[in-house]
Order: sequence, then C-alpha cells, then structure tokens
Amino acid sequence: ITTVKSIIYSQHGDPKDVIKIHTYTLNEPKNDEIILKTLAFPINPSDINQLEGVYPSKPEKTLKYGTNEPSAIAGNEGVFEIYQIGPNVSKNFKIGDRVIPLGANFGTWTSHNIALEKDLIKLPSDLSIVKSATISVNPITAYQLVNNYGLIKGDWLIQNAGTSAVSQLVSQIANVKGINVISVIRDRDNFDEIAQKLIDQGAKKVISETENSNRDISKEISSLTNGKLKLALNSVGGKSSSNISRKLVENSTIITYGGMSKQPVTLPTSLFIFKNLKSIGYWVTEITKKDPSSKIHAIKELIKLYQNNQLKELEVVENIWKFDEFNDEEIKKLVEIALDNVSKGKQLIKI
Ligand code: NDP
Repeated sequence: ITTVKSIIYSQHGDPKDVIKIHTYTLNEPKNDEIILKTLAFPINPSDINQLEGVYPSKPEKTLKYGTNEPSAIAGNEGVFEIYQIGPNVSKNFKIGDRVIPLGANFGTWTSHNIALEKDLIKLPSDLSIVKSATISVNPITAYQLVNNYGLIKGDWLIQNAGTSAVSQLVSQIANVKGINVISVIRDRDNFDEIAQKLIDQGAKKVISETENSNRDISKEISSLTNGKLKLALNSVGGKSSSNISRKLVENSTIITYGGMSKQPVTLPTSLFIFKNLKSIGYWVTEITKKDPSSKIHAIKELIKLYQNNQLKELEVVENIWKFDEFNDEEIKKLVEIALDNVSKGKQLIKI
C-alpha cells in the first residue's frame, strides 16, 4: 500500500484558493497497472489556466481519490520513476525506469500516480530531472513550430516574447537546422545583456518591441533576410503581432500559440489582400491527442538534441517538496510560493 499526497481541486478560481492537499492510498498494482513515484513537475501557464477554469482541456473530476466532492489532480507535465509494476506489465518497463505521461491531464502535481503502460513514454535515465520534467510541453511546441511549417535551411522566422522558454528553445532548434531567427523582446534596462544571451543561444538578431514598431528597422530586416522571412511565431498578440507580421514576405504564415499580452491578435488587412498572409493557430495538446505518435517522434528528436548538447536545459527555479518531512500545510505553502513566483522564472517542484 502506497500513501499518496496529491494537490487536487474541485472548484475553479484563483489557483491558491482552489488547491487542496489530499492524502489517500493506492493498493498494490494489478494486471498491467504501474505505480509511479513523482520526481519533479513544473508549473506551466496552462496549468494555471486549467485551475482558473479558462483552459479548454481539463481532466474529468472524479470521486476515485476518496474526496467528498469530485476532484482532479492538478498539473499536466512531470517526470516519474516506476515504483511498482503489476504482474502483466511487459519487460519494456521495470522498477526505477523514468517515464513521462503520453497525454495531457494526467495529474502530475502529486507524490505518486497510477498508469497503464500505454499511457507512458520511457526516457533515458541519464537525461537530467529538469530536462525530463519539462520535455513535454515547451520543447515539443518549439520542435513542432520549427519543423512542421515548411521552413528549410537558410529560411528566417521572427518571434515575439523572445525571452520565453518556448522562444529560447525555438532559437536553439532552428539554429541546428540552419534556420535563422529574429527575436523580439520587450524593452528593458538590461536589453544588451539579454539580447547577447539570446544571440549566444542561436538567435541571429534581437530587437526590442519599440524597434519592432519602427519602420526603419523593417528595411534593415528586409535586406538582412533577403526574401526568406517566411514565418512569424506569435505568443503575445496586440500590436506586437501586427509588427512581426509586417516584416514577412508574400505567402507567409503567422502562427499564434500564446497570448501573453491578453490582447486580441491584430493583423493589418493589407497583408491578407496584397501579400496573401495566412494566420493559423497551434495547440500541442490537440496535436498530441489527434496523433500521439507526433509526441513520441518529437521526444526522440529532442533527446538527441539534448544528448548532443545542442539544446540547453531550461532555466528553472527549484522548490523542494521534502516528502518525508512536510505536513499538508507545508506542502500547500510550497506550492503557493511557487505560484507566486511564476513571473520570476519557470517554477519546478522537485520531490
Ligand atoms: P515563459 O513563462 O517562459 O515566458 C513568458 C514570456 O511572456 C516572456 O517572454 C515574457 O516576457 C512574456 N510576457 C509576459 N507578460 C507579457 C505581456 N504582458 N506582454 C508581452 N509579453 C509578455 O512562458 P512559456 O515559454 O512557458 O510559454 C510562452 C507562451 O506559450 C505562453 O503563452 C504559453 O501559454 C504558450 N504555450 C502554448 C502552447 C500551445 O500548444 N499553444 C504550448 C506551450 C506554451 P518578459 O521577459 O519581457 O517578461
């Protein structure tokens, strides 16, 4: 029998108000069941949106954890170690293996969970905990944005929120493929320092949002990219999206995958009429649901990039959940602090 502590919710609202710590037990695994012990999980924007009730994909709330109200375990991404296996589990999975969930809504903010073999992807045990815990959402998004929209060696793409985890991964993955990246970042006091860091990671040029809105830079970018700026990646919206789209050549595409400014995506009419601009969306959750093999493929490729040192580990802020020491109040406090700090860097909870 395994004692489990999970961060659960039964209502939606401010994450700190709706999460509760719930303790329950799991019996020995039967048939092809696998009991997992959590090693680490990040807090992603989508996890917060899910708790708020504004995210279209969500787990079904259930009474199976022994709560009074139907509840779900929070979290979608994380890395686990196989703790116990049922008698019919194949030889592919053994105790101690590192695994991640194949689908979304798995419930990763927990000390343990239970799964079937078909719901898991095995990772190499020498891939670091941080890399493993954060491989499913941002790296897959970046991998697919760079690889699935027809760009070839020598082409250029432009992206806003150049400092985001996804954008930093895009620059590194594009760099390996010989695709050139322009990153737009918000104005800041230490612009030069951050710009240099992004260039060291593989971006060819970094401009500020003020420059992004300035017509002179458009000429400079047009001569730099020489007719090959074919894709814009938008995770901000508002004016930022119109200003990146203006720099694209004819028949280009702008992909919206996030909306950090909370402003609608604004695009100049003329680009649709005179330049045949295409504006589409991207959602990793739906792509994986429709075609789970796309995730397995991206994971394999990302592992190679990590092993070849072509991709840096995401920078995270580690919050340690001392499983044997923390009482429920201390666990809740730890998660609350991490939630408070999400704007200061990607929060990872490690057990
Ligand atoms: P991070 O937390 O790493 O980065 C957030 C970024 O947003 C930073 O670049 C930050 O810039 C910028 N930002 C924050 N507030 C604003 C604002 N008000 N206006 C403009 N920019 C702002 O995020 P992730 O890399 O984890 O995620 C980035 C986006 O991608 C999110 O919107 C996320 O939901 C989305 N996403 C979408 C997926 C999909 O399938 N569609 C999958 C994965 C992520 P600064 O440095 O200036 O603060």
